[in-house]
Amino acid sequence: MSPSSHPLARARSFSCRFCGAALETTFVDLGMSPLCESYVRPDQLAEMEPFYPLHAYVCGQCFLVQLQEFVTPDEIFTEYAYFSSYSTSWVEHARRYAETMIARFALGTDSKVMEIASNDGYLLQHFVARGVPVLGIEPAANVAKAAIDKGVPSTVRFFGRKVGAEIAAEHGRPDLLLGNNVLAHVPDINDLVGGMKILLAPHGVITMEFPHLQRLMAENQFDTIYHEHFSYLSFVTTERIFAHHGITIFDVEELPTHGGSLCIYGRHAENAALAVSGRVRELRQREIDDGFLTLERYRGFDEQVRATKRKLLSFLIDAKQRGKKVIGYGAPGKGNTLLNYCGIRTDFLDFTVDANPYKQGKFTPGTRIPIRAPEALREARPDYVLILPWNLKDEISVQAAYIRDWGGKFVVPIPEVRVL
Ligand SMILES: [Zn+2]
Repeated sequence: MSPSSHPLARARSFSCRFCGAALETTFVDLGMSPLCESYVRPDQLAEMEPFYPLHAYVCGQCFLVQLQEFVTPDEIFTEYAYFSSYSTSWVEHARRYAETMIARFALGTDSKVMEIASNDGYLLQHFVARGVPVLGIEPAANVAKAAIDKGVPSTVRFFGRKVGAEIAAEHGRPDLLLGNNVLAHVPDINDLVGGMKILLAPHGVITMEFPHLQRLMAENQFDTIYHEHFSYLSFVTTERIFAHHGITIFDVEELPTHGGSLCIYGRHAENAALAVSGRVRELRQREIDDGFLTLERYRGFDEQVRATKRKLLSFLIDAKQRGKKVIGYGAPGKGNTLLNYCGIRTDFLDFTVDANPYKQGKFTPGTRIPIRAPEALREARPDYVLILPWNLKDEISVQAAYIRDWGGKFVVPIPEVRVL
């Protein structure tokens, strides 16, 4: 084996997934971590788990923040544990989105809406309810089946250029092509965006929602970094990627979802009928003024993350020394980055609870914290409930408001530890 073909040699000098430049600058190094959706079954407790480096780099040429790919999309997506419909606020967000798109782009029974990574149909169901024809494109067979069962036509495929051309031939071209949290989660971002260019109708509109890197950095959301989340996108870099594939971003919205997301609106570069909005120019300039086209802007994040970890551990150590009982709420992917990076196991959290029955009875990856149904909180009567999906803290603190009956308090770990 020659030195350059050894896997470790390759790992040390990998290149940008968009522009191909060598990646040399660390964004943040979160150490070794297991795949965050690999929940451990009781019969697997005596087995080892694979851990991979969770080390994000920033490209010096295009400023795409990214992780290396250690696992194939097949391994991640074929049986995915994330069912979007378990979050009521996310389903409501999807309903409002559908209403807005139907009105803004005059979608009706003659239109076609397609969603990439359509999950369990949580979003397309709102178009179906209004009589708009849809097709879900979902790589995980078990979640696609859930969509089909609720009346959302779905095809089980991993989207890219080849599948984009196949779907155009089999189903026609969509007037609205959307993807939420897919841009960041697909390793081959060029194949994804190239496929959208192929599939979209000439007059069609693309919308994509993804976490905004500027907000991630401003609010210490390092726990949203996990192996399945390959790219961390600023607006300026996203615009560059889409332009490379012949798609112009003509509008953008800043949303509160997932701790601060962008919803971009794209169209074929050739389709000048949709004018580029002032919001595009304003956000682009705001990021440039904030330094997002300089490497210096990204270099301080690693120490900011270490400081956040020290504050969370100080709180937990103090609580345990005062004899307090602490229990987690939720077992989201982001929680697993936080727990592994901070070294939080059952020494700090007795267990965690999650509304998703797929996760109940299993253990968190790496940290092996038991996951129970939310009702277990009532029996345990914890002093503190650490909300791991902090982006849903409002929803959770209402759903589990009963912990206040015995003096329990909610705690969020991000942007820094805080008792609510
Ligand atoms: Zn690059």
